[in-house]
Amino acid sequence: GATLGVMGGGQLGRMFAHAAQQMGYFTAVLDADADSPAGLIAHHHVRSGYLDEAGLAELARHSAAITTEFENVPAQALAALAKTRPVAPGAAAVAVCQDRAAEKAHFVSCGVPCAPHALIETAGHLAGIDVSLLPGILKTARLGYDGKGQVRVRTREELAAAWAELKQAPCVLEKMLPLAYEVSVIVARGHDGQVVHFPLQQNLHRDGILAVTQVPSPDLTPPVQQRAIEAAETIASALKYVGVLCVEFFVLADGSVVANEMAPRPHNSGHYSIDACDVSQFDLQVRAMTGTPLVAPRLHSPAVMLNLLGDLWFRHGDTEVAPPWDRILALPGTHLHLYGKASARPGRKMGHLTITGAMAQQARDTALAACDLLGLERF
Ligand code: ATP
Ligand code: MG
Ligand code: MG
Repeated sequence: GATLGVMGGGQLGRMFAHAAQQMGYFTAVLDADADSPAGLIAHHHVRSGYLDEAGLAELARHSAAITTEFENVPAQALAALAKTRPVAPGAAAVAVCQDRAAEKAHFVSCGVPCAPHALIETAGHLAGIDVSLLPGILKTARLGYDGKGQVRVRTREELAAAWAELKQAPCVLEKMLPLAYEVSVIVARGHDGQVVHFPLQQNLHRDGILAVTQVPSPDLTPPVQQRAIEAAETIASALKYVGVLCVEFFVLADGSVVANEMAPRPHNSGHYSIDACDVSQFDLQVRAMTGTPLVAPRLHSPAVMLNLLGDLWFRHGDTEVAPPWDRILALPGTHLHLYGKASARPGRKMGHLTITGAMAQQARDTALAACDLLGLERF
């Protein structure tokens, strides 16, 4: 079999490698960390930084095609790899996703609404900010994730303090919107322009980190669903995107759909697809990058996904204690995924639990039982 290369060795790379291996591919992972979740299971682990020329050359030498699992892989590294190998998604599309200002400009150019916002490049811009954007959230334009790199502000004074605290320019100030609920749409687009999508996921975030994903989305209405899918497909096509792309949306009380941000890769909110769909988001990443046919994935079981953050390992104090997996696995329909990370840290994504059921209510009831066993807040 051919070898598929991936930039980044985190859990997304690991689940990508599982899908690739199932389809008979070998995998090569580039990640500097000796213990990276994907590096541990790849056929070739290239231990180098993302901009190291020798490392990039080695990854290219092994790989028939290359993708990325790390959102912030330098776009120039993807561009360099693309000189000798097919790379999907491409550097230009990834670069748009890495910059909140460019990302919002892309949404607007696609006719997709996003939150009212302003770009703040220097401290001098702070005084001119329109107060209608307050209360708002100041977000660094680059490198934020899991709610890191953002501060909620109510007044001009708080805005100035947040700017000083973040110490990163440029930033985007976004108006705080009254969210009814949040959904994401995961699409896969092929080299030939064909686009397929997963059913919408409804996502609950806690402290800026995804906590719970439910499919089917309990609050979704058909018009919201249609708006979000059309928007995600337009956003992907206008980027000439190849691969799996996730677009996060806010849904407001009146049913309007507002694009939040996008991720140029399989997404945490799509992990349920491994256990609940006939084709997973990782399967579709393999298919898109190798130019094999895309098919519309089918949800065969309603599902709830619970993220397992490192906090769960410290419920009994400072020593790391694994949660009671035996009791979790005794519940019907539970699918435990652990990423093989050497040690737990609060906030660190250690794994996820997908609960499937014949009916949504069943999946939900079992998920609530799992929450109780794990000490997770119910949803
Ligand atoms: P991710 O880990 O998904 O990449 P992130 O750090 O890039 O997250 P955002 O997606 O921008 O952060 O925001 C995290 C969460 O904060 C959102 O899912 C939403 O719950 C809340 N949030 C962000 N922006 C707004 C807004 N303008 N109005 C209301 N809530 C918001
Ligand atoms: Mg983000
Ligand atoms: Mg987000």
